[in-house]
Amino acid sequence: MNKYAVTNPATGASESSFTLATDAEVIAAIEAADRAHSEFSRGTSVGERAALMQRVADLHTERREHLAELIVREMGKPVEQALGEVDFSADIYSYYATHGEAFLADEPIELLGGEGSAFIRNASLGVLLGVMPWNFPYYQVARFAGPNLVLGNTILLKHASQCPESAAAIEEIFADAGFPAGAYRNLYASNAQIADILADPRVCGVSLTGSEGAGAAVAEVAGRNLKKVVLELGGSDPFIVLSADNLEEAVDAAVAARLDNSGQSCNAAKRFIVIDDLYDAFVESFTAKITGNVPADPTSPETTLGPLSSLGAAEALEEQLQRAEAQGATVHARGSRTGAFFSPTVLTGVSAQSDAYREEFFGPVAAIYRVQNEAEAVEVANDIPYGLGSYLFTTDPEQALRVADLIDAGMVFINGSLLDSPELPFGGVKRSGFGRELGRFGIAEFANKKLIRIL
Ligand code: NDP
Repeated sequence: MNKYAVTNPATGASESSFTLATDAEVIAAIEAADRAHSEFSRGTSVGERAALMQRVADLHTERREHLAELIVREMGKPVEQALGEVDFSADIYSYYATHGEAFLADEPIELLGGEGSAFIRNASLGVLLGVMPWNFPYYQVARFAGPNLVLGNTILLKHASQCPESAAAIEEIFADAGFPAGAYRNLYASNAQIADILADPRVCGVSLTGSEGAGAAVAEVAGRNLKKVVLELGGSDPFIVLSADNLEEAVDAAVAARLDNSGQSCNAAKRFIVIDDLYDAFVESFTAKITGNVPADPTSPETTLGPLSSLGAAEALEEQLQRAEAQGATVHARGSRTGAFFSPTVLTGVSAQSDAYREEFFGPVAAIYRVQNEAEAVEVANDIPYGLGSYLFTTDPEQALRVADLIDAGMVFINGSLLDSPELPFGGVKRSGFGRELGRFGIAEFANKKLIRIL
Protein backbone atom coordinates (compact mmCIF):
# COMPACT_ATOMS: atom_id res chain seq x y z
CA MET A 1 0.00 0.00 0.00
CA ASN A 2 1.25 3.47 -0.84
CA LYS A 3 1.71 5.72 2.17
CA TYR A 4 0.60 8.83 0.25
CA ALA A 5 -3.04 8.16 -0.55
CA VAL A 6 -6.46 9.76 -0.37
CA THR A 7 -9.23 7.92 1.46
CA ASN A 8 -12.35 10.06 1.63
CA PRO A 9 -13.38 9.99 5.31
CA ALA A 10 -17.01 10.78 4.46
CA THR A 11 -17.45 7.81 2.13
CA GLY A 12 -14.57 5.48 2.98
CA ALA A 13 -13.65 5.37 -0.72
CA SER A 14 -10.01 5.08 -1.77
CA GLU A 15 -9.58 7.84 -4.31
CA SER A 16 -5.93 8.01 -5.30
CA SER A 17 -2.45 6.94 -4.29
CA PHE A 18 1.06 8.10 -5.05
CA THR A 19 4.42 6.36 -4.99
CA LEU A 20 7.12 7.39 -2.56
CA ALA A 21 9.97 9.53 -3.81
CA THR A 22 13.11 7.54 -4.55
CA ASP A 23 16.28 8.42 -2.67
CA ALA A 24 17.71 9.78 -5.93
CA GLU A 25 14.70 12.10 -6.29
CA VAL A 26 15.16 13.33 -2.74
CA ILE A 27 18.82 14.12 -3.40
CA ALA A 28 17.93 15.86 -6.66
CA ALA A 29 15.34 17.96 -4.81
CA ILE A 30 17.91 19.04 -2.22
CA GLU A 31 20.34 19.97 -5.00
CA ALA A 32 17.67 21.96 -6.84
CA ALA A 33 16.63 23.76 -3.65
CA ASP A 34 20.23 24.60 -2.87
CA ARG A 35 20.80 25.86 -6.41
CA ALA A 36 17.62 27.93 -6.26
CA HIS A 37 18.90 29.49 -3.05
CA SER A 38 22.26 30.46 -4.48
CA GLU A 39 21.02 31.53 -7.91
CA PHE A 40 17.41 32.66 -7.59
CA SER A 41 17.28 33.93 -4.01
CA ARG A 42 20.65 35.66 -4.13
CA GLY A 43 19.84 37.01 -7.60
CA THR A 44 16.52 38.64 -6.71
CA SER A 45 15.47 41.40 -4.33
CA VAL A 46 12.92 41.01 -1.55
CA GLY A 47 10.58 43.14 -3.65
CA GLU A 48 10.89 40.82 -6.64
CA ARG A 49 10.16 37.76 -4.52
CA ALA A 50 7.27 39.60 -2.85
CA ALA A 51 5.74 40.24 -6.28
CA LEU A 52 5.84 36.48 -6.99
CA MET A 53 4.30 35.86 -3.57
CA GLN A 54 1.40 38.16 -4.41
CA ARG A 55 0.85 36.00 -7.49
CA VAL A 56 0.76 32.93 -5.21
CA ALA A 57 -1.98 34.66 -3.20
CA ASP A 58 -3.91 35.53 -6.36
CA LEU A 59 -3.68 31.96 -7.66
CA HIS A 60 -5.15 30.65 -4.42
CA THR A 61 -8.06 33.00 -4.93
CA GLU A 62 -8.46 32.06 -8.60
CA ARG A 63 -8.39 28.32 -7.79
CA ARG A 64 -10.29 28.44 -4.52
CA GLU A 65 -13.14 26.10 -5.49
CA HIS A 66 -10.78 23.43 -6.83
CA LEU A 67 -8.41 23.72 -3.87
CA ALA A 68 -11.30 23.50 -1.40
CA GLU A 69 -12.75 20.46 -3.14
CA LEU A 70 -9.43 18.60 -2.75
CA ILE A 71 -9.30 18.93 1.02
CA VAL A 72 -12.99 18.14 1.46
CA ARG A 73 -12.13 14.73 -0.03
CA GLU A 74 -8.75 14.32 1.65
CA MET A 75 -9.68 15.14 5.23
CA GLY A 76 -13.41 15.83 5.31
CA LYS A 77 -13.41 19.57 5.98
CA PRO A 78 -16.87 21.12 5.42
CA VAL A 79 -16.72 22.95 2.12
CA GLU A 80 -17.49 26.43 3.47
CA GLN A 81 -14.64 26.06 5.98
CA ALA A 82 -12.39 24.71 3.22
CA LEU A 83 -13.08 27.81 1.13
CA GLY A 84 -12.40 29.94 4.20
CA GLU A 85 -9.06 28.20 4.67
CA VAL A 86 -8.02 28.86 1.07
CA ASP A 87 -8.98 32.54 1.44
CA PHE A 88 -7.08 32.82 4.72
CA SER A 89 -4.02 31.25 3.10
CA ALA A 90 -4.23 33.78 0.26
CA ASP A 91 -4.37 36.54 2.89
CA ILE A 92 -1.20 35.18 4.53
CA TYR A 93 0.73 35.10 1.25
CA SER A 94 -0.52 38.58 0.44
CA TYR A 95 0.43 39.84 3.91
CA TYR A 96 4.06 38.81 3.43
CA ALA A 97 4.05 40.11 -0.15
CA THR A 98 2.92 43.50 1.16
CA HIS A 99 4.99 43.75 4.34
CA GLY A 100 8.05 41.61 3.51
CA GLU A 101 10.27 44.53 2.48
CA ALA A 102 9.48 46.49 5.65
CA PHE A 103 10.03 43.44 7.90
CA LEU A 104 13.35 42.65 6.25
CA ALA A 105 14.73 46.18 6.05
CA ASP A 106 18.15 46.79 7.62
CA GLU A 107 17.89 47.41 11.36
CA PRO A 108 20.31 50.14 12.54
CA ILE A 109 22.04 49.69 15.91
CA GLU A 110 22.76 52.63 18.15
CA LEU A 111 26.43 52.26 19.11
CA LEU A 112 27.40 52.77 22.75
CA GLY A 113 30.57 54.43 21.57
CA GLY A 114 33.25 54.38 18.94
CA GLU A 115 33.38 55.41 15.34
CA GLY A 116 31.35 54.22 12.39
CA SER A 117 28.04 52.40 12.27
CA ALA A 118 26.41 49.04 12.69
CA PHE A 119 23.23 47.42 11.51
CA ILE A 120 21.47 44.07 11.17
CA ARG A 121 20.82 42.76 7.71
CA ASN A 122 18.12 40.09 7.51
CA ALA A 123 19.60 37.41 5.27
CA SER A 124 18.24 34.04 4.25
CA LEU A 125 19.74 30.82 5.62
CA GLY A 126 19.28 28.44 2.69
CA VAL A 127 17.19 25.30 2.22
CA LEU A 128 14.47 24.58 4.80
CA LEU A 129 12.33 21.52 5.38
CA GLY A 130 8.64 21.81 6.23
CA VAL A 131 6.73 18.88 7.74
CA MET A 132 3.04 19.68 7.75
CA PRO A 133 -0.21 18.06 8.99
CA TRP A 134 -3.56 17.30 7.43
CA ASN A 135 -5.82 19.51 9.55
CA PHE A 136 -5.28 22.75 7.58
CA PRO A 137 -3.42 21.58 4.46
CA TYR A 138 -3.13 25.05 2.85
CA TYR A 139 -2.93 27.31 5.88
CA GLN A 140 -0.14 25.34 7.61
CA VAL A 141 2.00 25.56 4.48
CA ALA A 142 1.21 29.26 3.97
CA ARG A 143 2.48 30.16 7.44
CA PHE A 144 5.82 28.57 6.64
CA ALA A 145 6.31 29.07 2.90
CA GLY A 146 4.94 32.62 2.65
CA PRO A 147 7.47 34.38 4.88
CA ASN A 148 10.41 32.13 4.06
CA LEU A 149 10.25 32.44 0.29
CA VAL A 150 9.97 36.24 0.58
CA LEU A 151 13.02 36.15 2.84
CA GLY A 152 14.85 34.02 0.28
CA ASN A 153 14.95 30.60 1.93
CA THR A 154 13.96 27.74 -0.36
CA ILE A 155 11.64 24.93 0.67
CA LEU A 156 11.31 21.17 0.64
CA LEU A 157 7.81 20.28 1.82
CA LYS A 158 6.80 16.92 3.24
CA HIS A 159 3.05 17.10 3.63
CA ALA A 160 0.81 14.71 5.57
CA SER A 161 0.48 11.41 3.75
CA GLN A 162 -3.30 11.76 3.59
CA CYS A 163 -3.05 15.08 1.68
CA PRO A 164 -1.00 14.24 -1.43
CA GLU A 165 -3.34 16.01 -3.86
CA SER A 166 -3.46 19.34 -2.04
CA ALA A 167 0.31 19.03 -1.54
CA ALA A 168 0.78 18.76 -5.32
CA ALA A 169 -1.67 21.61 -5.96
CA ILE A 170 0.37 23.91 -3.73
CA GLU A 171 3.59 23.04 -5.55
CA GLU A 172 1.87 23.76 -8.85
CA ILE A 173 0.82 27.20 -7.63
CA PHE A 174 4.39 28.17 -6.71
CA ALA A 175 5.59 27.04 -10.14
CA ASP A 176 2.76 28.84 -11.95
CA ALA A 177 3.44 31.99 -9.95
CA GLY A 178 6.96 32.06 -11.40
CA PHE A 179 9.15 30.63 -8.65
CA PRO A 180 11.89 28.42 -10.13
CA ALA A 181 11.39 24.66 -9.74
CA GLY A 182 13.86 24.31 -6.87
CA ALA A 183 12.38 27.09 -4.74
CA TYR A 184 9.43 25.02 -3.52
CA ARG A 185 9.45 21.26 -3.89
CA ASN A 186 6.76 18.86 -2.70
CA LEU A 187 8.20 15.50 -1.61
CA TYR A 188 6.32 12.27 -0.98
CA ALA A 189 9.02 11.29 1.48
CA SER A 190 9.31 8.51 4.05
CA ASN A 191 10.30 9.23 7.65
CA ALA A 192 13.73 7.74 6.92
CA GLN A 193 14.16 10.17 4.01
CA ILE A 194 13.13 13.05 6.28
CA ALA A 195 15.98 12.06 8.60
CA ASP A 196 18.38 11.94 5.62
CA ILE A 197 17.25 15.39 4.48
CA LEU A 198 17.92 16.81 7.94
CA ALA A 199 21.38 15.25 7.96
CA ASP A 200 22.29 16.93 4.65
CA PRO A 201 24.58 19.92 5.28
CA ARG A 202 22.73 21.99 2.66
CA VAL A 203 19.51 21.88 4.72
CA CYS A 204 19.49 24.57 7.42
CA GLY A 205 16.37 24.01 9.48
CA VAL A 206 12.95 22.46 9.84
CA SER A 207 9.49 23.66 10.78
CA LEU A 208 6.99 20.99 11.87
CA THR A 209 3.33 21.26 12.76
CA GLY A 210 1.71 18.13 14.14
CA SER A 211 1.66 15.83 17.13
CA GLU A 212 4.10 15.77 20.03
CA GLY A 213 5.42 12.43 18.80
CA ALA A 214 6.20 13.69 15.32
CA GLY A 215 7.69 16.89 16.76
CA ALA A 216 9.96 15.02 19.14
CA ALA A 217 11.08 12.56 16.43
CA VAL A 218 11.96 15.27 13.93
CA ALA A 219 13.49 17.64 16.51
CA GLU A 220 15.69 14.80 17.78
CA VAL A 221 17.18 14.25 14.33
CA ALA A 222 17.48 18.00 13.77
CA GLY A 223 19.22 18.45 17.11
CA ARG A 224 21.71 15.71 16.32
CA ASN A 225 22.52 17.57 13.12
CA LEU A 226 22.51 21.01 14.77
CA LYS A 227 19.62 22.32 12.71
CA LYS A 228 17.28 25.05 13.87
CA VAL A 229 13.72 23.84 14.65
CA VAL A 230 10.31 25.50 14.91
CA LEU A 231 7.59 23.29 16.40
CA GLU A 232 3.87 23.91 16.48
CA LEU A 233 2.36 20.94 18.32
CA GLY A 234 -0.80 20.08 20.16
CA GLY A 235 -2.81 22.03 22.66
CA SER A 236 -5.68 21.72 25.07
CA ASP A 237 -6.61 25.37 25.24
CA PRO A 238 -8.59 26.64 28.24
CA PHE A 239 -11.68 28.79 27.68
CA ILE A 240 -12.23 30.63 30.97
CA VAL A 241 -15.53 32.36 31.73
CA LEU A 242 -15.35 34.61 34.81
CA SER A 243 -18.11 37.09 34.01
CA ALA A 244 -20.15 38.07 30.99
CA ASP A 245 -22.64 40.83 30.14
CA ASN A 246 -24.21 38.40 27.76
CA LEU A 247 -23.57 34.75 28.58
CA GLU A 248 -25.05 33.59 25.26
CA GLU A 249 -22.34 35.48 23.37
CA ALA A 250 -19.69 33.71 25.44
CA VAL A 251 -21.38 30.35 24.77
CA ASP A 252 -21.52 31.06 21.04
CA ALA A 253 -17.80 31.91 21.04
CA ALA A 254 -17.10 28.75 23.05
CA VAL A 255 -19.00 26.46 20.68
CA ALA A 256 -17.32 28.06 17.66
CA ALA A 257 -13.90 27.69 19.28
CA ARG A 258 -14.53 24.00 19.97
CA LEU A 259 -16.11 23.00 16.66
CA ASP A 260 -14.04 24.81 14.03
CA ASN A 261 -12.54 22.24 11.63
CA SER A 262 -14.78 19.60 13.25
CA GLY A 263 -12.84 20.03 16.49
CA GLN A 264 -9.46 19.21 14.93
CA SER A 265 -7.49 22.39 15.55
CA CYS A 266 -4.43 22.57 17.76
CA ASN A 267 -5.69 25.90 19.15
CA ALA A 268 -9.32 24.90 19.56
CA ALA A 269 -10.79 25.59 22.99
CA LYS A 270 -10.98 22.15 24.56
CA ARG A 271 -11.47 22.79 28.29
CA PHE A 272 -14.19 25.18 29.44
CA ILE A 273 -13.50 26.59 32.90
CA VAL A 274 -16.52 28.41 34.26
CA ILE A 275 -17.07 30.40 37.47
CA ASP A 276 -19.57 28.83 39.88
CA ASP A 277 -22.44 31.32 39.47
CA LEU A 278 -22.46 30.98 35.66
CA TYR A 279 -21.66 27.27 35.50
CA ASP A 280 -25.14 25.71 35.39
CA ALA A 281 -26.45 28.14 32.79
CA PHE A 282 -23.26 27.71 30.74
CA VAL A 283 -23.44 23.90 30.76
CA GLU A 284 -27.10 23.94 29.74
CA SER A 285 -26.72 26.44 26.91
CA PHE A 286 -23.38 25.09 25.67
CA THR A 287 -24.70 21.52 25.55
CA ALA A 288 -27.83 22.60 23.67
CA LYS A 289 -25.89 24.65 21.17
CA ILE A 290 -23.02 22.26 20.49
CA THR A 291 -25.30 19.26 20.03
CA GLY A 292 -27.32 21.33 17.54
CA ASN A 293 -24.40 20.72 15.18
CA VAL A 294 -25.08 17.36 13.61
CA PRO A 295 -22.24 15.85 11.56
CA ALA A 296 -23.18 15.84 7.91
CA ASP A 297 -21.96 15.67 4.32
CA PRO A 298 -18.90 17.94 4.06
CA THR A 299 -19.66 18.80 0.44
CA SER A 300 -22.88 20.57 1.49
CA PRO A 301 -22.52 24.36 2.07
CA GLU A 302 -24.90 24.09 5.06
CA THR A 303 -22.65 21.65 6.94
CA THR A 304 -20.95 23.02 10.06
CA LEU A 305 -19.53 19.71 11.29
CA GLY A 306 -18.04 17.13 8.94
CA PRO A 307 -16.53 13.70 9.53
CA LEU A 308 -13.23 13.48 11.38
CA SER A 309 -10.17 13.31 9.16
CA SER A 310 -10.19 9.51 9.00
CA LEU A 311 -11.89 6.45 10.42
CA GLY A 312 -8.78 5.87 12.55
CA ALA A 313 -9.03 9.36 14.05
CA ALA A 314 -12.69 8.77 14.98
CA GLU A 315 -11.91 5.38 16.52
CA ALA A 316 -9.06 6.89 18.55
CA LEU A 317 -11.38 9.64 19.85
CA GLU A 318 -14.02 7.08 20.78
CA GLU A 319 -11.45 5.07 22.74
CA GLN A 320 -10.35 8.24 24.58
CA LEU A 321 -13.95 9.02 25.45
CA GLN A 322 -14.62 5.52 26.76
CA ARG A 323 -11.52 5.79 28.94
CA ALA A 324 -12.67 9.18 30.27
CA GLU A 325 -16.03 7.71 31.25
CA ALA A 326 -14.42 4.63 32.82
CA GLN A 327 -12.25 6.99 34.87
CA GLY A 328 -15.28 8.82 36.28
CA ALA A 329 -16.28 11.60 33.87
CA THR A 330 -19.98 12.33 33.40
CA VAL A 331 -21.12 12.30 29.79
CA HIS A 332 -23.72 15.07 29.33
CA ALA A 333 -24.31 14.72 25.66
CA ARG A 334 -23.03 11.49 24.22
CA GLY A 335 -21.50 11.61 20.80
CA SER A 336 -22.37 8.69 18.64
CA ARG A 337 -19.98 7.53 15.94
CA THR A 338 -20.89 6.35 12.46
CA GLY A 339 -17.75 5.62 10.50
CA ALA A 340 -15.64 8.77 10.71
CA PHE A 341 -18.67 10.91 11.72
CA PHE A 342 -18.58 11.81 15.41
CA SER A 343 -21.26 13.92 17.02
CA PRO A 344 -20.51 16.50 19.74
CA THR A 345 -19.94 15.28 23.26
CA VAL A 346 -19.86 17.19 26.53
CA LEU A 347 -18.06 15.95 29.63
CA THR A 348 -18.20 17.22 33.18
CA GLY A 349 -16.70 15.87 36.36
CA VAL A 350 -13.33 15.10 34.76
CA SER A 351 -11.07 14.43 37.74
CA ALA A 352 -7.52 15.74 37.94
CA GLN A 353 -6.32 12.12 38.18
CA SER A 354 -7.90 10.98 34.90
CA ASP A 355 -6.19 10.84 31.52
CA ALA A 356 -8.85 13.13 30.08
CA TYR A 357 -7.72 15.94 32.37
CA ARG A 358 -4.40 16.23 30.54
CA GLU A 359 -4.97 14.70 27.11
CA GLU A 360 -5.88 16.59 23.98
CA PHE A 361 -9.23 15.60 22.42
CA PHE A 362 -8.79 16.11 18.66
CA GLY A 363 -12.48 16.17 17.74
CA PRO A 364 -15.82 17.56 18.97
CA VAL A 365 -15.45 16.64 22.66
CA ALA A 366 -15.64 19.40 25.28
CA ALA A 367 -14.88 19.13 29.00
CA ILE A 368 -16.45 21.69 31.33
CA TYR A 369 -14.96 22.48 34.76
CA ARG A 370 -16.58 24.39 37.64
CA VAL A 371 -14.29 26.78 39.56
CA GLN A 372 -14.94 29.00 42.59
CA ASN A 373 -12.74 31.98 41.80
CA GLU A 374 -10.14 33.53 39.50
CA ALA A 375 -7.20 31.82 41.20
CA GLU A 376 -8.73 28.37 40.77
CA ALA A 377 -9.55 29.13 37.14
CA VAL A 378 -5.90 29.99 36.46
CA GLU A 379 -4.74 26.89 38.33
CA VAL A 380 -6.95 24.57 36.26
CA ALA A 381 -6.05 26.40 33.04
CA ASN A 382 -2.34 25.91 33.65
CA ASP A 383 -2.50 22.37 35.02
CA ILE A 384 -1.71 20.64 31.70
CA PRO A 385 1.45 19.89 29.71
CA TYR A 386 0.38 22.23 26.87
CA GLY A 387 0.51 25.99 26.47
CA LEU A 388 -0.68 26.99 23.02
CA GLY A 389 -3.68 29.34 23.07
CA SER A 390 -6.23 30.39 25.67
CA TYR A 391 -9.52 32.27 25.84
CA LEU A 392 -10.84 34.47 28.60
CA PHE A 393 -14.25 36.04 29.08
CA THR A 394 -14.62 38.77 31.69
CA THR A 395 -16.28 42.16 31.95
CA ASP A 396 -13.45 43.49 34.15
CA PRO A 397 -10.58 44.94 32.04
CA GLU A 398 -8.11 44.82 34.94
CA GLN A 399 -8.93 41.20 35.60
CA ALA A 400 -8.52 40.45 31.90
CA LEU A 401 -4.91 41.64 31.82
CA ARG A 402 -4.11 40.17 35.25
CA VAL A 403 -5.32 36.71 34.20
CA ALA A 404 -3.68 37.05 30.77
CA ASP A 405 -0.36 37.52 32.56
CA LEU A 406 -0.92 34.41 34.68
CA ILE A 407 -1.86 31.97 31.91
CA ASP A 408 1.00 29.80 30.63
CA ALA A 409 0.25 30.06 26.92
CA GLY A 410 1.61 31.60 23.75
CA MET A 411 -1.68 33.36 22.96
CA VAL A 412 -4.54 34.84 25.01
CA PHE A 413 -7.79 35.89 23.33
CA ILE A 414 -10.04 38.05 25.51
CA ASN A 415 -13.82 38.18 25.00
CA GLY A 416 -13.72 36.52 21.59
CA SER A 417 -12.69 33.45 19.60
CA LEU A 418 -11.67 32.58 16.03
CA LEU A 419 -9.74 35.87 15.85
CA ASP A 420 -6.65 34.53 14.04
CA SER A 421 -5.24 36.84 11.40
CA PRO A 422 -2.01 36.97 9.35
CA GLU A 423 -0.50 39.78 11.45
CA LEU A 424 -1.04 37.97 14.79
CA PRO A 425 1.90 35.76 15.85
CA PHE A 426 0.95 32.13 16.45
CA GLY A 427 2.78 29.64 18.66
CA GLY A 428 3.03 28.10 22.09
CA VAL A 429 5.05 27.22 25.15
CA LYS A 430 5.51 24.00 27.16
CA ARG A 431 4.74 20.87 25.12
CA SER A 432 2.91 22.92 22.49
CA GLY A 433 6.26 23.72 20.92
CA PHE A 434 8.49 26.72 20.36
CA GLY A 435 8.99 29.48 17.85
CA ARG A 436 6.38 31.70 16.25
CA GLU A 437 4.63 31.76 12.92
CA LEU A 438 2.72 34.63 11.28
CA GLY A 439 3.15 38.33 11.93
CA ARG A 440 6.58 39.91 11.86
CA PHE A 441 8.04 37.16 14.08
CA GLY A 442 7.12 34.52 11.49
CA ILE A 443 9.56 35.94 8.98
CA ALA A 444 12.34 36.22 11.57
CA GLU A 445 12.51 32.56 12.68
CA PHE A 446 14.75 31.39 9.84
CA ALA A 447 16.53 34.69 9.14
CA ASN A 448 20.25 35.11 9.58
CA LYS A 449 20.27 38.32 11.62
CA LYS A 450 23.63 39.28 10.21
CA LEU A 451 25.56 41.99 12.02
CA ILE A 452 27.39 44.42 9.78
CA ARG A 453 29.77 46.73 11.68
CA ILE A 454 31.53 49.42 9.67
CA LEU A 455 34.41 51.48 10.95
P1 NDP B 1 1.32 13.60 12.93
O1 NDP B 1 1.85 14.54 13.91
O2 NDP B 1 1.81 12.21 12.98
O3 NDP B 1 1.62 14.18 11.46
C1 NDP B 1 2.06 15.49 11.18
C2 NDP B 1 3.14 15.43 10.12
O4 NDP B 1 4.32 14.84 10.69
C3 NDP B 1 2.77 14.56 8.92
O5 NDP B 1 3.33 15.12 7.75
C4 NDP B 1 3.45 13.25 9.27
O6 NDP B 1 3.71 12.44 8.17
C5 NDP B 1 4.74 13.74 9.87
N1 NDP B 1 5.44 12.78 10.71
C6 NDP B 1 4.93 12.02 11.70
N2 NDP B 1 5.90 11.31 12.29
C7 NDP B 1 7.05 11.62 11.65
C8 NDP B 1 8.41 11.18 11.79
N3 NDP B 1 8.78 10.31 12.71
N4 NDP B 1 9.33 11.70 10.95
C9 NDP B 1 8.98 12.58 10.02
N5 NDP B 1 7.72 13.04 9.83
C10 NDP B 1 6.76 12.55 10.65
O7 NDP B 1 -0.23 13.68 12.93
P2 NDP B 1 -1.32 12.54 13.13
O8 NDP B 1 -2.12 12.46 11.93
O9 NDP B 1 -0.73 11.28 13.66
O10 NDP B 1 -2.19 13.24 14.28
C11 NDP B 1 -2.29 12.73 15.56
C12 NDP B 1 -2.38 13.85 16.57
O11 NDP B 1 -1.48 14.90 16.27
C13 NDP B 1 -3.73 14.55 16.65
O12 NDP B 1 -4.64 13.81 17.36
C14 NDP B 1 -3.32 15.85 17.29
O13 NDP B 1 -3.20 15.67 18.67
C15 NDP B 1 -1.98 16.12 16.71
N6 NDP B 1 -2.02 17.04 15.57
C16 NDP B 1 -1.79 18.34 15.80
C17 NDP B 1 -1.84 19.23 14.78
C18 NDP B 1 -1.58 20.68 14.98
O14 NDP B 1 -2.14 21.49 14.26
N7 NDP B 1 -0.73 21.05 15.92
C19 NDP B 1 -2.16 18.82 13.42
C20 NDP B 1 -2.35 17.40 13.27
C21 NDP B 1 -2.28 16.57 14.32
P3 NDP B 1 2.72 11.23 7.76
O15 NDP B 1 1.41 11.83 7.49
O16 NDP B 1 3.40 10.71 6.55
O17 NDP B 1 2.72 10.30 8.92
